[in-house]
Amino acid sequence: MAKGNIGVTSDNIFPVIKKFLYSDHEIFLRELVSNAVDATQKLKTLAAVNEFKGEIGESKVRVTIQAQKGTITISDNGIGMTAEEVDKYINQIAFSGAEEFVNKYKDNAQAIIGHFGLGFYSAFMVAKKVEIFTQSYKEEAAAVHWSCDGSPEYTMEETIKSERGTDIILHIDDECKEFLEETKIEGLLKKYCKFLPVEIAFGKKKEWKDGKQIETEEDNIINNPQPAWTKKPAELTEDDYKTFYHELYPMSMDEPLFHIHLNVDYPFNLTGILYFPKIKPNMDLHKNKIQLYCNQVFVTDSVENIVPEYLTLLHGVIDSPDIPLNVSRSYLQSDGNVKKISGHITKKVADRLSEIFKNDRTQFEDKWEDIKLFIQYGMLSDEKFYERAAGYALLRNVDKKYFTYEEYKQLIEENQRDKEGQLIYLYANDTDAQYSYIERAKEKGYDVLLMDSQLDVHIISQIEQKNEKTRFVRVDSDIVENLIKKENEQKVEFTQEQLSALESIFSSQLPKIEKTNFIVGFEHISEDALPVFLTQEEFMRRMKDMSVMGGGMMSFYGEMPDSYKFVVNTAHPLIKDMLNKAEEKCNEKVNPIAITLKEKQAEEEILKNAQKDKKSDELSTEEKDQAEAITKEVARLKKDIKDIYTAYAKENDTVKQLIDIALLASNLLKGEALAAFVKRSVNVLK
Ligand code: ADP
Repeated sequence: MAKGNIGVTSDNIFPVIKKFLYSDHEIFLRELVSNAVDATQKLKTLAAVNEFKGEIGESKVRVTIQAQKGTITISDNGIGMTAEEVDKYINQIAFSGAEEFVNKYKDNAQAIIGHFGLGFYSAFMVAKKVEIFTQSYKEEAAAVHWSCDGSPEYTMEETIKSERGTDIILHIDDECKEFLEETKIEGLLKKYCKFLPVEIAFGKKKEWKDGKQIETEEDNIINNPQPAWTKKPAELTEDDYKTFYHELYPMSMDEPLFHIHLNVDYPFNLTGILYFPKIKPNMDLHKNKIQLYCNQVFVTDSVENIVPEYLTLLHGVIDSPDIPLNVSRSYLQSDGNVKKISGHITKKVADRLSEIFKNDRTQFEDKWEDIKLFIQYGMLSDEKFYERAAGYALLRNVDKKYFTYEEYKQLIEENQRDKEGQLIYLYANDTDAQYSYIERAKEKGYDVLLMDSQLDVHIISQIEQKNEKTRFVRVDSDIVENLIKKENEQKVEFTQEQLSALESIFSSQLPKIEKTNFIVGFEHISEDALPVFLTQEEFMRRMKDMSVMGGGMMSFYGEMPDSYKFVVNTAHPLIKDMLNKAEEKCNEKVNPIAITLKEKQAEEEILKNAQKDKKSDELSTEEKDQAEAITKEVARLKKDIKDIYTAYAKENDTVKQLIDIALLASNLLKGEALAAFVKRSVNVLK
């Protein structure tokens, strides 16, 4: 029997493995099973080039638990190892500066294992003793029994092994007893080995018989050695792709929308299938993640550093031996191959979408609502993706018609340019609440987009930025005549005094709604338009919409109250009539004040003219006081007039009714105010 020390320069590698790799220690199984798979495949390769002429026999890796002995055995009938090979590959794990390195990468077990080629030694994360029984395919070689109890000392002796290949026996540590449970091991095999290229048998299939589960003769194969992504797209049907989706995500009930088969061999190696999932509101977007494989060995399902963030919304698998696994995450991002891979995937995804759009626009439109979150996210976060997607990204109007950006531009080009040459995109984000505004816009021959999803606010800004003279205006942000201003504004017919009177009248009954401001404005629209409208200024509203999504400065806007304008249509007979009545009632009191006001304003004018060429320090205190006094007087007189109209209008039902109608049309009349409105409306009919 040979004895020796494992070639580790540091005192003892095993405590290091156990201590630092504790959190990830389940990967021992992946490492040992993939070594067994490699050995099996190497034998096939040797047979193919005629270096091995014997019987390959059944290519299977077996994982078995011997609960009573407290062991797990991983067996293969691959190439096996000679004594020299055991010595070279197992005993001589030469490395220097182990501790330094381990400290540096202690959070990343992958890195340590990859760096040292410590795959085999990961067995010591769960085992107190490991044995190898191996018989090389080389006919003259004797079988070897190697054993090590977790100290740097091992024993190695000749033995007899009837079959070619290797058995690795792990004597599971007392602290790791859970790895002797069948469900645990089966779970791990399914996680890491589900698509390994050689069949992995874990015990026998079970069957229910007479109310009991009994073992059958058949091996319980836990993997699919030829997963869809390893095949050529031409060999696969649409159903095969769907079946594979469910193989990947057994818990998912939904069908994917489309798939993309990736297949590159230059300048890097990459295969895989990505799926566009059906995205539903409130779903956990990252539940089914893209899985990363390296030659069919599961590596991770956090691919954040390998594909752009918006692509992580996709589902599926990526398999590449060219993604460096044994490095830290931050390094990954700067790795040239990883960058190329990311770029390639982006291009593939964009091209595939373009292909579907070109070949089957109906299907593309049908699925647009499901895929748009993803496409818009991509367009917003990746300029390259924007360029590719801008040709098929869609806009939907309120009549559920779809247009590409370019098509839509052409649609509105003729009718929706304002007098400054700006192209105005009208949009709604709630077809029910904005119904009357949408109708008014349509009556004018305008088209209205529906922009109601999470990212639409940002898409709006993006389209505005990317296109000159382009502006989005929400249909309810102004009266329809002002949404797209075509010719010079029409003059309001009323005098300044009459407008002040109307302002006082409407201000007297402005609604009190929490965090909402109202002001009164005037427009000379037309006789058949509504007498009073409510509009919401575009800029402020958009800032508030954005604040829902972003922090910082945006949250400042979020705190601002909503601000609406009651637009009084001075062309409407009801308004004229209302003003006439108010004047009739109030003239007696208002007129004398109005006369005084006129005189005072004239005086103020003269005074201001006299003082306007002088600097502030050239004026005497007396002059200054005089100016101040008259300004005060003018303000007081105005207020007196306002008070008269306010007192008159405060209880006026017509005013109240008009305001309520405007609120109602904007979905702002609720609760008690709504009930009062209904009651008042009934009274009018009596
Ligand atoms: P790596 O697999 O990264 O090279 P390991 O420590 O897992 O590192 O294995 C070291 C070497 O030991 C392998 O490259 C292989 O040559 C040999 N080996 C490990 N397991 C087996 C096995 N089951 N059959 C044959 N050779 C094996």
